[in-house]
Amino acid sequence: MLHIEPVKAFKDNYLWVFHQLGGTEAVVVDPGDAAPVQQFLASRQLRLAAILVTHHHADHIGGVNELQQYWQAPVYGPASPNIPQVTHPLREGDQLKVAGLALRVLEVPGHTLDHIAYYAADADGTPLVFCGDTLFAAGCGRMFEGTAPMMHASLQKLATLPAATRVYCTHEYTLSNLQFARAVLGDTPVLTARIVAEQQKRAVDMPTVPSTVALELATNPFLRCEDPLVIAALARQGQSQTKPAEVFGALRRWKDTF
Ligand SMILES: [Zn+2]
Repeated sequence: MLHIEPVKAFKDNYLWVFHQLGGTEAVVVDPGDAAPVQQFLASRQLRLAAILVTHHHADHIGGVNELQQYWQAPVYGPASPNIPQVTHPLREGDQLKVAGLALRVLEVPGHTLDHIAYYAADADGTPLVFCGDTLFAAGCGRMFEGTAPMMHASLQKLATLPAATRVYCTHEYTLSNLQFARAVLGDTPVLTARIVAEQQKRAVDMPTVPSTVALELATNPFLRCEDPLVIAALARQGQSQTKPAEVFGALRRWKDTF
């Protein structure tokens, strides 16, 4: 049975570690810091069998060198000049199997140009995706390197994964993202219910992630660029975009200063 646990790092990062229950091999996704990962592995008596990275930002790769040297672990990641530690460069459609989990690579540029996600069609019966800083619970990453059409297409790629797909993003931004979602979508019943549920989790310091594709489709404005509510909210901001990629770009600019 697959076990996936968040290792907290920095202010609000989650470094995901997965392993098979009863197994000895673990895999870490986006180790921005080595120390908390080492502590976690020691506490579970696990050995690091592989490192996966989604993109080149320091809070996702800062611990790679130390972990790689200590464990002699292969590093899977985008074929990117920004991440020289990668020993197994990956492209769209590539497949890998680590700690018993079969993953397929999705290229999702926008937050950075080199951003990839890892999708497992069957993780103990349900799909999952490790999507780094592309799709967040109720939001999405900032567009540091890509264009709005590029990032919109990447989010749409994630949005078309099966509805049950568990979404493992890498920051605890959910409550502030939901405030923005509410400003855009208004007090829809599904959004209101989510805000209550996520506030209850945060009140007892529980992560709000993973989310699911179904929940994101229902409550994440960045996946609802054709929703008349979104287009009307932009109009109230003096923005007249109606084409989905342009709606996305206007939403992202609005969120940047929200
Ligand atoms: Zn990032």
